[in-house]
Amino acid sequence: MTQDIHLADIPVRYQPDVCIIGGGAAGVSAAIAAARCGLSVLLVERYGFCGGASVAGLSGTICGLFSSGTNRQQLVFGFADEFYQALIHRNGVTDPVPFGKTLLVPHDAFSWKCVADDLLLQHHCQVLYHTQFLRAFLTEEGRVSSLLLKAMDGFFLVYPRFVIDASGDAELVHSIGCATYYGKKGSIQTPTMMFKMGNVNMAAFTGVDPDSINRMIAESHQAGKYKLPRHHVYLFPLPHSGEVLCNMTKITFPDGRVPIGTNSADMSFAEMEGRRQAESYARFLIEHIDGFENAYLNDTGCQVGIRQSRSIEGVYKLSNEDVLLARKQGDAIALSAWPIELHGAERLEIHYLDNDYYTIPFETLVPIGATNYLVAGRCLSAEHEALASARVTAQCFGMGYAAGAAAALSVKEQLPVMNINGFAVNQWMKSNKLKTAYEQ
Ligand SMILES: Cc1cc2nc3c(=O)[nH]c(=O)nc-3n(C[C@H](O)[C@H](O)[C@H](O)COP(=O)(O)OP(=O)(O)OC[C@H]3O[C@@H](n4cnc5c(N)ncnc54)[C@H](O)[C@@H]3O)c2cc1C
Repeated sequence: MTQDIHLADIPVRYQPDVCIIGGGAAGVSAAIAAARCGLSVLLVERYGFCGGASVAGLSGTICGLFSSGTNRQQLVFGFADEFYQALIHRNGVTDPVPFGKTLLVPHDAFSWKCVADDLLLQHHCQVLYHTQFLRAFLTEEGRVSSLLLKAMDGFFLVYPRFVIDASGDAELVHSIGCATYYGKKGSIQTPTMMFKMGNVNMAAFTGVDPDSINRMIAESHQAGKYKLPRHHVYLFPLPHSGEVLCNMTKITFPDGRVPIGTNSADMSFAEMEGRRQAESYARFLIEHIDGFENAYLNDTGCQVGIRQSRSIEGVYKLSNEDVLLARKQGDAIALSAWPIELHGAERLEIHYLDNDYYTIPFETLVPIGATNYLVAGRCLSAEHEALASARVTAQCFGMGYAAGAAAALSVKEQLPVMNINGFAVNQWMKSNKLKTAYEQ
C-alpha cells in the first residue's frame, strides 16, 4: 500500500524530540519520563484512548507490583507506583487480591484511560489518537529519519530525533528490518478474550472455591454442554460493585495452532472465536456458579488480548535462567517477582519466585545496531519463558519510564543508544529526579 504513496506529496506535521509509538503502559510511562527530562513528546496511538492490552484488551489488573511467597510486600515502585496511586485516588482499583503466592490489583478500564490522559496533558505531551504508525525511513547511517503515519484525515510524516517503539508488536523495529522473533521456535502464548460480568451477587460469589470452578468447567466441557477449552481460569471482582473480570477463554485454531497477533486473518478468527467462547463461559457461570444467577455478560475487551507476538533481538536477551535464578544485575532498570505465567496451547504453567526477584537490564530494550530508537514493554528481548514473567504491567511501566529517560539522555548528550548502558540511564534518572522502579 505505501508504495502507491508519493512521499513528496505527504505533509510533515511534527518534528518532536521523541515520537512514541503506542499508548500502553510502556508508551505512557516513556512519554512522561521524556517530558520530565525536557523533551517535546509526540505519542501516537491507533485507538482513541491509552491503555493497550490493559484497557483495549481488558487485561484489567496490575500484576508485578508485589513480592511472592510468605511475606508479600510491594516491591516495585517508581512510575508504576505513581500510576497505581493515581488509580487509588480515582477509586479505580480494589485492594490487592491474591494470585497464587503473590498479589495483584484489579482496576477499572475507564480510570486507567483517564489517569493516562491527565498525566499526558499535565506534561504537555502531544497525543494523536486514531493514528497508526505504518513505517519508518532510515538515513544511510541507519538512523530513523522519518515516520509515515496514517491519521483519520490522511497520511503524514513525522521527523523525530528519537523514536520509542512501545507498540507491543515491535512495529517500528520490524519495519526497519531489525531482527525479531516469535516465542520459542514460533510457538507463542495463547490469546484470551477478556470479558466482564455485571450484576454479580458478590456476597454469594466470594465464598466460592476457585478450584471447584475449575473442576466444574472441566466436567461441563467433557460433558459437551458448553465449549470451555480452558480449565484454569481467573475471576476478579472489579472496583464497581457487582462487576467481575473474567480471564477464562483460550483461543487456538481447531488444529491447535495459536493465532498470531500481527496477522489480520488470524486476529479476525481470534476475535470471533473469543466472543463465542466468552458467551459460552458466561452461560456456564450463570447456570452453575453461586452469585451469577442474575448476572449478564457486560462486555468483552475491544480487542482480543495478545500475550505475545514479536520480540526484538536485543543487545541483551533476558534468559530463563535470569528469571529462575533470580539474577540481579547492577545496571538493571526494572525488577520483577512476577511468576513465569505461561499460557501454552496445551496447558498453563506457573513458576513462582518465592521471596525473591530478578532484574531486567536496559540492554533488553536496545535492538542490535540501534541508533536513535529503542523499544519498551512486552516486545523486549527475552526468552519465551522469561517473557511470560517480564511482560506484565508493572514491569512495562518500569521499562517505559527508563526508555523515556534514555531517549532524553541520547538526544541531549547526542549519544547513539548503543553507547548508553543501564548505569548511565539510572544515573541520568537520578540527576533528572526520576524515580527508578526501586525507589519509593
Ligand atoms: C489476556 C491477557 C491478560 C493479561 N492479564 C494481565 C494482568 O492481569 N495483569 C497484568 O499486569 N498484565 C496482564 N497482561 C499483560 C499486560 O496486559 C501486557 O503485557 C502489557 O499491558 C503490555 O504493555 P505494553 O505497553 O508493552 O503493550 P500494549 O499494552 O500492547 O500497548 C501497545 C499499544 O500500541 C498501540 N499500537 C500498536 N501498534 C500500533 C501502530 N502501528 N500504530 C499506533 N499504535 C499502535 C496499541 O494499540 C497499544 O495501545 C495480560 C495480557 C493479556 C493479553
